Amino acid sequence: MTKKKKSFPGRQSDRIRQILAGLDHTFPDAQCALKHSNPLELLIATILSAQCTDARVNLVTQDLFRKYRAPQDYLRVPQEELETDIRSTGFFHNKAKSIRGASAMIVERFGGSVPASMEELLRLPGVARKTANVVLGVAYGKAEGIVVDTHVLRVSRRLDLSNSQAPENIERDLMQIIPRNRWISFSHQMILHGRTICKARKPLCPVCPLEKICESEDKCSR
Ligand code: SF4
Repeated sequence: MTKKKKSFPGRQSDRIRQILAGLDHTFPDAQCALKHSNPLELLIATILSAQCTDARVNLVTQDLFRKYRAPQDYLRVPQEELETDIRSTGFFHNKAKSIRGASAMIVERFGGSVPASMEELLRLPGVARKTANVVLGVAYGKAEGIVVDTHVLRVSRRLDLSNSQAPENIERDLMQIIPRNRWISFSHQMILHGRTICKARKPLCPVCPLEKICESEDKCSR
């Protein structure tokens, strides 16, 4: 559906305040849904979550993280064995390649620990800004950017927070209008909002906390 974009020059900061308040009210405890107990597990789970539900990833990592406890463990097995272990998350060949490539670099260049800077994380194979933002925000409490997944992308466009289609441009737009001390919680809240209310096919607008300030053409009244 083609959307007619609008601008809100004078109202922008008011709208942002209302959006943040609405998200706070509805999702006060929004957190990363990927189960993990350390930065390495979060990194692996985030790589596996591409084109896959968090529920499926959590199911797979239950056994995976018992078998693979350190980055070296992912390198000890043949790639085919890792592929079998993660097969049900889809795209298992590329994901296994990314996991082994990232593990090798973590061992060889980062002393066995997942790096804690954007620049270093982006050097890991298979890691782009979305994954790096998840790891930095959730595992290290660092607000270096905003996670833009499929939900954040859709909701940001519906709320006119960005006109772009490209995740990196949407992230740049969001970083300009969302206060930095909210970047981490905003990411989790937007993902949850998109997953539970502002759904792709049929958004639940009548129960949406942002309904009054949303002018999306995707809005529905019932
Ligand atoms: S009113 Fe509807 S389209 Fe707008 S943000 Fe809420 S759920 Fe999404």
